[in-house]
Amino acid sequence: MAKHIYADNAATTKLDSDAFEAMKPWLLDEYGNASQPYAFSRKPREALKSARETIAECIHALPEEIYFTSGGTESDNWAIKGTVFANQDPKPVITSAFEHHAVLHSCEAIERLGYPVAYLWPDETGTVTPQILREVITDEIQLVSVMFANNELGTIQPIKELCEVAHAHNALFHTDAVQAVGHVELNVKELGVDMLSASAHKFNGPKGIGFLYLRKGVKLCSFADGGAQEFGLRAGTENIASIVGMATALKKNVSALETNQKYVMSLEKLLLDKLGGCGVPFVRNGGNYMLPGVISLSFEGKDGEAILHRMDLIGISISTGSACDSKNTEISHVLKAIRLPEQLAKGTIRISLGKNNTEEEIDMIVTALRKIV
Ligand code: PLP
Repeated sequence: MAKHIYADNAATTKLDSDAFEAMKPWLLDEYGNASQPYAFSRKPREALKSARETIAECIHALPEEIYFTSGGTESDNWAIKGTVFANQDPKPVITSAFEHHAVLHSCEAIERLGYPVAYLWPDETGTVTPQILREVITDEIQLVSVMFANNELGTIQPIKELCEVAHAHNALFHTDAVQAVGHVELNVKELGVDMLSASAHKFNGPKGIGFLYLRKGVKLCSFADGGAQEFGLRAGTENIASIVGMATALKKNVSALETNQKYVMSLEKLLLDKLGGCGVPFVRNGGNYMLPGVISLSFEGKDGEAILHRMDLIGISISTGSACDSKNTEISHVLKAIRLPEQLAKGTIRISLGKNNTEEEIDMIVTALRKIV
């Protein structure tokens, strides 16, 4: 069988082998419920505490500011719904038009309950500038939610400055940092954010686990009612194995952040140079501040969906910037938000590289694209 090339690391990443090894004991031997008072539960409880401390350290938070969730989707839902439900008055929320659906659909849900939501349009590089927020924000706003880095384009947002604008109007600030955590340096205290969402499977941890950073003192409604887990705000028996796997993967990625960034950026440069060198006309979408390895490419007049399927037949997994139904290629809300012309938007693909990709794979991706496009 031909070698499979995985180049869709923004969709999910391979579980790190150390994270996998770290998870095993908590599934097979030390399976006690962390909430029970007997000796058999002591080790899981200690593991939970230690994982919380490790994760807090990686983002410069306090351990008691880390709440474990089932992933990015839950963290985003919780940040938005938990904030507005904590407030008696239906005060408005601001988000951006190119958020992940976990944020957008949460905002649509609160709109149906009577909470007004305003949507910011990023500029054509895929950036929500502080000025864009300043033009819309008022003292009525209770929450601003803007993603740290866009998952289709890879653009990194000026979060610190956006947060300052929100705080100047006494609004809380949430950022969906699912694509950024474990890939770029992140310090919640320097950024000043009130809430931040993360998901383990985007940084070589297991799927179905994530966390919400909630700044000490910020009031949020509970996400799940039941037991007293997660400081009484998110009930449910803790998934110790996955939590330990997440902490191990995050610590490993954060410790090797610079090395990984340099390596992935060298692969990205190689891909773009080689593709440019073979005369294939393309446009790279995005701005000046980008996540390493997330490459949105538009081929004018081509069909991104068809490129994806032909790459798949060769054994290369990539993604598109469009969602396809059987008759029409629907342009993604992200490409619409940056007002990419239709002829380019329909021919857009996303290649997302990670630390496990190799130069040989880049050669094979470029050769395949040259043939297909
Ligand atoms: N937010 C962003 C920006 C994402 O890219 C994703 C996943 O693709 C999510 C949220 C959802 O995370 P999860 O898969 O952990 O629910």
